[in-house]
Amino acid sequence: MAPQEPDRHTFYAGKPQPSADSKETFQTTDPSTGKPVCTIHTSSPSAIDSAIRSAQSAFPSWSATPPIDRARILLRAVALLRARNDDLARLETIDTGKPFSETSTVDIVTGTDVLEYFAGLVAAGGLNGETLRLRDTVHAYTTKEPLGVCAAIGAWNYPIQIALWKSAPALAAGNTLVYKPSEFTPLHAEHLASIYREAGLPDGVFNVVYGAGDVGARLTSHPAIAKVSFTGQVATGKKVAASAAGGMKYVTMELGGKSPLIILPDAPLDSAADVALLANFFSSGQVCTNGTRVFVPRPLQRDFERALLDRIRHVRPGDLFDPATNFGPLSSALHRDKVLRYIRTGTELDRARLLCGGPEPVDGLPDSVRDGYWVRPTIFTDCTDDMAVAREEVFGPVMSVLYYDAVDEAVRRANATDLGLAAGVVGRDLDQCHRVIAQLQAGITWVNTWGESPAEMAVGGWKLSGVGVENGRRGLEAWVRNKSTLIDMSGSVPTVFTKL
Ligand code: NDP
Repeated sequence: MAPQEPDRHTFYAGKPQPSADSKETFQTTDPSTGKPVCTIHTSSPSAIDSAIRSAQSAFPSWSATPPIDRARILLRAVALLRARNDDLARLETIDTGKPFSETSTVDIVTGTDVLEYFAGLVAAGGLNGETLRLRDTVHAYTTKEPLGVCAAIGAWNYPIQIALWKSAPALAAGNTLVYKPSEFTPLHAEHLASIYREAGLPDGVFNVVYGAGDVGARLTSHPAIAKVSFTGQVATGKKVAASAAGGMKYVTMELGGKSPLIILPDAPLDSAADVALLANFFSSGQVCTNGTRVFVPRPLQRDFERALLDRIRHVRPGDLFDPATNFGPLSSALHRDKVLRYIRTGTELDRARLLCGGPEPVDGLPDSVRDGYWVRPTIFTDCTDDMAVAREEVFGPVMSVLYYDAVDEAVRRANATDLGLAAGVVGRDLDQCHRVIAQLQAGITWVNTWGESPAEMAVGGWKLSGVGVENGRRGLEAWVRNKSTLIDMSGSVPTVFTKL
């Protein structure tokens, strides 16, 4: 079958640049059918260098553009993104395998909100510094300066949202950007670049390179790159941070997690089960902040499991464009195989009790999507802390339920991991909820809900889950450097080198 999307080429100086590409290509596939969708031309080393040069030549003028004028351009892009929400959502569905019911209400919406937030923030003085009055004749001021040409490298689970969460504060602060989407989900990038251009973004401010890890690695080690903002796995993040450190570049690292969800003894069971399902099966479990270790008081075991089984019937795989479908295939055959290996490990080696799901094919799929990369929503229960499924990030629809006897014990076990991205509690007594949250070692926490991440709220991981934050006021600080200036108006230089 012929690809459904036009070829993608390195995008710089305001347009796709077929002539600059190497001969290497790769195909993307629709995860619901396994069929090819698009041919991507891998950016050659010289094409990557040209994209960086394009960003370098655009920097002096873009960084000197007043923030309110930059904001006007970005707000025009906001309007275009909202007007084209459904077209972009269709593309994200074909690229990622997420149902249209999800991509049309979450992916572009939450990315665009962040663009609107940072445009508004810089227009309203968010890049202003401080004035410090030190003495009558001496004061100091600070200014926030953009960093220069920055690199953004994305994961495959929220492609356009990640591209917007990185480009919004970067561009609003006056930087120029070279963006590499994941090789598995690159389709959005050219549309975003074209929308920015249509909104009035000068050529060279937003550029796109395509390819696998070697393309990302060329960006992170390039001397002209001032900062690397990375979203991906911990193991890759370590390589990216090490490479960036060699050039003393700024970094933001948004990495993986194995986040705990603690159901407190007084929790309403229906809400607890709703939160657990949301925290595990949204986006078919391919969410970095998923609450995959669900700690439940032992006396609630039977009722909690029944509540989970009642609800699992409402996880509906199917045609991704059917409004009733709320569960899609995994993003690639490679990733499906990895998740299935974890499920087999859970049953065969860990010997966790399989409450539902498992490695068998998903039943009842329409013929049109039967060849997709499906995995059943799977719940392991009676898990122990040392099991692979309860310890390692699976990044698929696999929940591990662990029982506990005392809340302190649950907190201790929840924190016994090198990761610290997210955590949450469900309970009626809000005092106790806050006491538990205060003890949990994670950068993003929720009480009686899961997953909402509004533009105003800074988010980032603790421990091996990351460095720095995205979004919120603090998210802008990640894209600027500080300059402090002290002015002495006394008329005499306070030197010690005077005649005795
Ligand atoms: P990967 O780490 O495999 O890849 C992330 C990006 O890095 C891809 O574009 C990849 O290229 C690129 N890359 C690979 N090697 C290098 C290298 N040496 N130098 C520079 N770039 C490189 O992550 P996944 O795509 O598998 O994404 C899933 C992971 O992302 C999960 O661990 C998830 O938790 C995490 N994540 C974290 C989020 C957060 O906000 N904390 C949000 C979303 C996801 P390519 O894959 O194209 O070869």
